[in-house]
Amino acid sequence: MKSAVFEGPGKVEIRELPVPGLEGNQVLVKVKACGVCTWEKRFFAGDGVSPDQYPVRGGHEIAGVVAAVGPDAAPDLKPGQPAVVASLTRCGQCYYCRRGMDNLCVRSAESAQKQEPWGPAGFSEYVLVRDYEVYRISENLPFVEASLAEPLACVCRSVRASGIQASDTAIIMGAGVMGLLHLKLLSAMGVNSIVVEPDHARHSIAYANGALKCIDPVEVPPGDVVSVLNESPGGISGEPFLGFTAAFLTAGGPSAAHYALASLAKGGALVLYGAFHPEHVMNLDLNDIHYREIAIVGSYRHDRQSFRKAADLLSAGTVKVRDLVSVTVPFPEVKRALEIASEGLTDQTPEGENGSVNARPAITRPYRVVVTFE
Ligand SMILES: [Zn+2]
Ligand SMILES: [Zn+2]
Repeated sequence: MKSAVFEGPGKVEIRELPVPGLEGNQVLVKVKACGVCTWEKRFFAGDGVSPDQYPVRGGHEIAGVVAAVGPDAAPDLKPGQPAVVASLTRCGQCYYCRRGMDNLCVRSAESAQKQEPWGPAGFSEYVLVRDYEVYRISENLPFVEASLAEPLACVCRSVRASGIQASDTAIIMGAGVMGLLHLKLLSAMGVNSIVVEPDHARHSIAYANGALKCIDPVEVPPGDVVSVLNESPGGISGEPFLGFTAAFLTAGGPSAAHYALASLAKGGALVLYGAFHPEHVMNLDLNDIHYREIAIVGSYRHDRQSFRKAADLLSAGTVKVRDLVSVTVPFPEVKRALEIASEGLTDQTPEGENGSVNARPAITRPYRVVVTFE
């Protein structure tokens, strides 16, 4: 079978590798679509990656068809079934696995498939995974869209962490793929959301996905979002609007976190969804957190429950993601897919002083780039 190997920064080659043999609870999945995510872009750019981590095989947002099933695999898995793959092994026994936090499994790496070169290997004609990593999907769901199950599963976990419910209000920082997936899920749940995004080119897609309002943080300083909404006719509910129930930080650094905190109502929750630059450290007014009873929570990866939910939401069409797929690229041109996805990688919104965001990004980046297979 053919498999794309990241040989080093900027170097991706398609190698001929043996189709892996099956044992135990393993499942062989024929890949139909695989998205390019931040992890792959980092390895492609060599960003924060040490040379001894190459060669590696990227591709963890996998949709495909069950091709073969090991003797001890779950009995309901059969060849021919369309499915998505979680690409995250867990032991099922550790402290975290037993508390619904299997995303934080301490033996995840030990449980991973031993294969050469290492990595999730979704940019391959076949992937070998554990049965519990395979989630069946509807026959009607296109594979390209199904490949967004993995990021949506992360978003399902994030939204659950916030405790938000129907008719509550959310402020989403960033209108990239992750911000828009939050918006789509929250809209489907009946949550009223606004989006904070300096790139005006991204406002129209946010409005099309149910944003009540898109705000440019360059124009509206932190803390003013609440009054802006009160000034718009009817506010959100007709009642005086006091602030948001939850904020989701999908982009930006400490200034975006300050912006989000200043927008929360008392009792609100800030979810730190995205990863941050190691130098992103912020000062917190502890009394502000105390007196306003603010919760700050992290959300990292996905768990089994959130993955099942994401697969179901996509299968049922409750969350539609076609508009997030900017480009599809056939597998033989996988390197081009990585180049397209990486185009805007250095394009970060500069941090301003006093929590302001003082410049707009110059380039509009693509949303998801998805590699497709025959
Ligand atoms: Zn991903
Ligand atoms: Zn575990």
